[in-house]
Amino acid sequence: RPDFAGKIARRLGATVEDTVVHALDTVSLTVTAGEVVGIVGESGCGKSTLGRIVAGIMPASGGRVLYHDRPVGSGHDGLGIQMIFQDPMSSLNPRLKIVEAIGEAPLYHGLIRRREMDDYVAAVMRDVGLDPDFRHRYPHQFSGGQRQRIGIARALAVKPDLLVCDESVAALDVSIQAQVLNLFMDLRQARGLTYLFISHDLSVVEHISDRVAILYLGRLVELAPTETLFARPRHPYSQALLSQIPKIGAGRQQFAPVKGEIPSPLNPPPGCHFHPRCPLATDRCRQEAPVLRRLAPDHSAACHLAEAA
Ligand code: SF4
Ligand code: MG
Repeated sequence: RPDFAGKIARRLGATVEDTVVHALDTVSLTVTAGEVVGIVGESGCGKSTLGRIVAGIMPASGGRVLYHDRPVGSGHDGLGIQMIFQDPMSSLNPRLKIVEAIGEAPLYHGLIRRREMDDYVAAVMRDVGLDPDFRHRYPHQFSGGQRQRIGIARALAVKPDLLVCDESVAALDVSIQAQVLNLFMDLRQARGLTYLFISHDLSVVEHISDRVAILYLGRLVELAPTETLFARPRHPYSQALLSQIPKIGAGRQQFAPVKGEIPSPLNPPPGCHFHPRCPLATDRCRQEAPVLRRLAPDHSAACHLAEAA
């Protein structure tokens, strides 16, 4: 992925042309309709890449993504999976009134007729807690929280069933964050939505997710129901992450980094990618990549010592 490769290349002082980054290498995950799956990991672990591939915004160089049993991007109109970004302004045209911003996609795709647009947009705005009387205003006339609601309304306007949220509340004040998270949960009930919820914020993920997937350097290292994962993480990386959750009341912050540098995704360590930072690493870990194994019917981890850990 060019922008990701660029970011890594700049960090290393290399050029993008020399840089091939496999942002993801071993990720296998099934999301059931109606569920909220949290995707967690440090910066550069590939979680945004995963979200973009699932949403069909970025092609995968290998592997498969199936949506209702068919490959994403083939035979679907692409409307069923919508993405909600951190900064809604980046996807809102500043010269377009909100009624047009929300109504253009459903109109273009023939879900509504032009004369229905006003009423349709008003209804979607109500669903996301926006006053429909404001539909003839422009994006800059709204607050950050309201703009995120506009972004959500735009996504909902094409009637998706899966929302991929990439750091969707990260830029908002804590009190507004809670309101938007509650909106996501209300919409889940009202519309039967399914979510892939990508976040660096473990307390947000714990609050909103049914299951959590932990990524490390492009690999899925642990997958479990939220309660199980937070109470009894089995992968040493998950254990390190979860032991560093900021205290309640500490406000919005990233989790403290796990001890040791994150190795470059350009040149990940052989064997288990986590071995240079892992307190339990053995010779086997340095040579052989652990595969994701089932520890319980709904709990998997990729670690040679997961049973012991
Ligand atoms: Fe640590 Fe080895 Fe498990 Fe990797 S496989 S997390 S290095 S114990
Ligand atoms: Mg990201």
